[in-house]
Amino acid sequence: MSSAYRNLTVLEHAGVVNRVITKEDFGRYELAEELTEHHHHLVCSSCGLVRDLLSDVDAERLMSLAMRRATEQGFTPATHRLDIVGLCAGCSARKPAQPRTRASV
Ligand SMILES: [Zn+2]
Ligand SMILES: [Zn+2]
Repeated sequence: MSSAYRNLTVLEHAGVVNRVITKEDFGRYELAEELTEHHHHLVCSSCGLVRDLLSDVDAERLMSLAMRRATEQGFTPATHRLDIVGLCAGCSARKPAQPRTRASV
C-alpha cells in the first residue's frame, strides 16, 4: 500500500473524500460534495477515467423521484450518486466503429 493511498484512506474515514466505485471496483477519490458542488460522474469502463458531470434540473428531478421511491420502502435518503458508465472520448475514438446492425435490417 503506497503512502498516498494510505493518506487517502485516512481522508476517507475523516469524510473529506468519497470513494467512487467503478466497474473494476478500484478506489477513486475526490473531494466530498460538502466541499464541492453536487455533481454526477462519467465513468469510463475501459480506462477507468472518472470525470465530473454537473447535474441539471431534469436529472435532479428524476433522482428526486427515485429518492421518493426509497422513502416508500422505509429508507431515508440523504443524497444520491449517479454514475454514467461508458467510454471516454479517448477510448471511444480508439474503438473501431460498431457495425450498424439496425440499419442492415
Ligand atoms: Zn477511457
Ligand atoms: Zn444529482
